[in-house]
Amino acid sequence: MTNWPELESKYYMQTIVRVPVTLVRGKGARVWDDKGKEYLDFICGLAVNCLGHCHPVIVEAVAEQSRTLVQTSNWYYTVPQIRLAQLLVENSCLDKAFICNSGLEANEGAVKLARRYGHLKLKGAYEVITTMDSFHGRSLAMTAASGQPKMHEPYVPLPVGFINVANNDIEAIKSATTEKTCAVMLEPVQGEGGVNVPDDDYLKKVREWCDCKGILLILDEVQTGIGRLGALFGYELYGIEPDILTLAKGLGGGMPVGALLAKEKASVFTLGDHNSTFGGNPVTSAAACAVLKYVIDNDVAGNVKKVGQYLMEGLEGLKKKYSFITEVRGRGFLVAIEFNSDIAQDILMACLEKGLLVNKLKPSAIRLIPPLIIGNKEVDGAIGILDGVFSGIVG
Ligand SMILES: *Cc1c(COP(=O)(O)O)cnc(C)c1O
Repeated sequence: MTNWPELESKYYMQTIVRVPVTLVRGKGARVWDDKGKEYLDFICGLAVNCLGHCHPVIVEAVAEQSRTLVQTSNWYYTVPQIRLAQLLVENSCLDKAFICNSGLEANEGAVKLARRYGHLKLKGAYEVITTMDSFHGRSLAMTAASGQPKMHEPYVPLPVGFINVANNDIEAIKSATTEKTCAVMLEPVQGEGGVNVPDDDYLKKVREWCDCKGILLILDEVQTGIGRLGALFGYELYGIEPDILTLAKGLGGGMPVGALLAKEKASVFTLGDHNSTFGGNPVTSAAACAVLKYVIDNDVAGNVKKVGQYLMEGLEGLKKKYSFITEVRGRGFLVAIEFNSDIAQDILMACLEKGLLVNKLKPSAIRLIPPLIIGNKEVDGAIGILDGVFSGIVG
């Protein structure tokens, strides 16, 4: 039997700390490794496979479109791309869409758009305020946008124009705002940076501040969008509307597709300003259309709200039982369990052994980001495994 990790270390750049498992197949909320072992998947491609693995509507859309037309370049009109933009606009508060391939591309587009707005409407303002512990992607500019010094250090000097301020602190945003500021960019709930849920009124205060200063509010919903928090878009839960919205992860249900959306007033790109070779490709767009239609028609966000509550109750039960759990936090199906010491790696490995995939968020916390279509049965399965793992911890 091939030793895949050994082969990988010979040929692949060593930049990723991997979990020692080679996955070969998936169905719904389950995946199987090359030895035939089954796992309950509470990572789902890093909050990507929102309908689980190999959902028939995605499989069908990809198969049908790849038999029909795969790539044309954006010099031509293609139907799935136009349909996807229509679906996104008609089901959100935004007016125009641009389709790309990933989260960081959507965010790069958002910042380029905000800079164009700054050039045209704000006397050349170009700075974007972001928050500490945010994550916006791994291009050089998005590395600078992400408020994580450990991401910055290996790559200095970074592109200018990003100011990282304290998270969940409206005063920090206010004092960083100058005549050079064109936008504030935030995740409604920070994902990679720790599953940090802000105060209920934080986003409202940021919205008011942006309106007061005439600057743009960009919401990075690459992780929180498409139902993950229990609403189609996270902004709905906080009673505000962004000027610019970015999506990726869940949008294609596993296919690489992202989107940049803007209100009419912020939609200032003109012909020639922005483009992408693969962005809005017929196949990935067809997959995203299928995902969006399924999520909307089946009220998948409603399922997340309901089952997410059940998951949270189960986790609260575990917290009562095990004193080394210091906090469970999150919203919908974006949840973290924090421990009183750096045991996340041990927990991850013990879960793996018992057939549950979880994500190590940081040395002292794990993250649960299951497919959005699971029910109480899968939650019971995961809670049961976690209970078994925790009972083996001497903490
Ligand atoms: C994952 C993520 C990104 C980056 O997306 P990629 O597709 O990996 O480029 C950006 N912002 C947020 C909030 C994310 O969770």
